[in-house]
Amino acid sequence: MQICYLDNNATTRVAPQVLAEMTPWFVEDYGNASSLHVLGERAADALARARARVARLIGARSPEQVVFTSGGTESDNAALHSALRRSPDRRRIVVSAVEHEAVLAPLARLESDGYEIVRIAPDREGHLDPARFFEAIDERCALAAVMAANNETGALHDWPAIGEHCAARGVPFHVDAVQWVGKLPLDVAAHRVDTLAISAHKFHGPKGIGALYLRDPKSFQPWIHGGGQEQQRRAGTENLPAIVGFGAAAESATQWLAQGGPARVAARRDALQEQVVAALAGVRVHAGRAPRTCNTLNLGFDDVSGEALVMLLSEFGVCASAGSACASSRHAPSHVLLAMGFDEPSASRSLRLSLSRETTDAEVAHAVDAVVKAVQTLRALAGVP
Ligand code: PLP
Repeated sequence: MQICYLDNNATTRVAPQVLAEMTPWFVEDYGNASSLHVLGERAADALARARARVARLIGARSPEQVVFTSGGTESDNAALHSALRRSPDRRRIVVSAVEHEAVLAPLARLESDGYEIVRIAPDREGHLDPARFFEAIDERCALAAVMAANNETGALHDWPAIGEHCAARGVPFHVDAVQWVGKLPLDVAAHRVDTLAISAHKFHGPKGIGALYLRDPKSFQPWIHGGGQEQQRRAGTENLPAIVGFGAAAESATQWLAQGGPARVAARRDALQEQVVAALAGVRVHAGRAPRTCNTLNLGFDDVSGEALVMLLSEFGVCASAGSACASSRHAPSHVLLAMGFDEPSASRSLRLSLSRETTDAEVAHAVDAVVKAVQTLRALAGVP
């Protein structure tokens, strides 16, 4: 069976050129970047080159502002940790209610330790009003954080405006840009962002490698202590093959963005949306009127459980998801749709289709047929006319 993979917000295929660049670093140049011999020197050079490529993709002024981590989750946790250590007397944190679990879960722990967590909800269209952040963020805040793009709906948030407000009040500002980087251009140095999280496997790099951008590397308080790697900012022998792959993915994303790639993906996503909406009654496009990442489509179908739909679509060769990857394995209604004001049954009826730069017109046609057939089948089984 031909597999049509439309779960690219969960993870993407490693691009062949990325894998080709990684391979020698496992078996030929396998030195430790801290070693003084020739293999160590080569590894250190490769590390520097990858760091420069990632810095270029996000518009960092200096590669030294990029710290490699094990992925988006670690980057988010490290950013929270650093901000809180720097201001131990401030006990309020302001975030959006639709952040990824990599932000929400550590905040839930902090809340039980006595921190005040203010969670700002979007409206039903997925729009987060910056004015609500402005009201909540003041000099008492240890940190404010907002994701640049939502992983479930693709909705884009006005993080630059919130960053300006934070800067004027001396409040550290973190942006989870895991779903933005590689899909939209970024010039991080042009904005008032203190820390920013990214992850390679969301744009055709390997899993288990990511980065944290630091506007001011000197003020960063490390989360992981040990050897002096990453200029004392993240201990542990560098995962060089993954870092090289991350650099290669960053380089190819930089070119893809410059060549107008996002518009081509958006055209396919829009075609998918239009054809499904035209073929079926009782369909909602979640955050359909919000500015969205080019690749993401989140649909709600009356009378159809998202989970059942994902399983039936899999039978038809289409890989999709009901909300985020972690939410779907927990079988919980989407916290994003709940925050947008949908009730639990509606929040359990979402289907996320996320394309990649590799998605073809034929795959879009396959997905339209499969979604229409699956929804009709499940409605018939439920006795819905
Ligand atoms: N933040 C967002 C918005 C994500 O979508 C994800 C992954 O789905 C993460 C953080 C976690 O990234 P990683 O899988 O690299 O730990």
